[in-house]
Amino acid sequence: MSKAVAGVLSSLDRVLLNAETIQRRVADMAREIERDFAGGELSVVTLMDGALFFVADLLRSIDLPVRLHTLTVSSYHGGTNSTGRVQMAQTLPFDLTTRHVLLIDDILDTGLTLATVRERILAECKPDTLRVAVLLSKRRQREREVPVDYVGFEIEDEFVVGYGMDYQGHYRNLPCIGILNPGRLPQS
Ligand code: 5GP
Ligand code: MG
Repeated sequence: MSKAVAGVLSSLDRVLLNAETIQRRVADMAREIERDFAGGELSVVTLMDGALFFVADLLRSIDLPVRLHTLTVSSYHGGTNSTGRVQMAQTLPFDLTTRHVLLIDDILDTGLTLATVRERILAECKPDTLRVAVLLSKRRQREREVPVDYVGFEIEDEFVVGYGMDYQGHYRNLPCIGILNPGRLPQS
């Protein structure tokens, strides 16, 4: 492990999922998705930026033709709680008519983000099928229910960082997922 990563790790309260556990589960998810989409082409829509590392590992492990589209969405705006407002492009920048779509996000929390994006894709892009995958699902009451087809891990309702997920831009390059130590938050 690099000195830089070791330094960042020391500001975590604890590691929740280590790199090996994440990689093993992501490979299992790839097998499930391959089975369900067998014989077809997969059109992936991934929400940025948190799902960046997850989607990179997942898609490189999927043995199917894939088209990748990204959508930048934000509801946290730098804090550790959802603002309840989902911000994204006015018009969705892709044509998904008749495609088999897999919508991917890092975390299912209140459900607002995925519910909003999913409804917009269904209404505006008219895909043939639409499934949803998340790496993490928090055990908590949802503000919006969302049907999710693939879940990597169920976790408690705590703020996590690492493996693509940030606190004010920090921590994304950690290979593991951890809980922040509130006494040692980085200066922004
Ligand atoms: P929801 O709209 O379901 O409340 O929130 C989903 C989005 O909030 C996720 O895409 C993710 O970007 C962000 N989010 C939710 N929980 C966490 C968390 O524990 N850590 C980080 N870094 N982001 C989170
Ligand atoms: Mg996100």
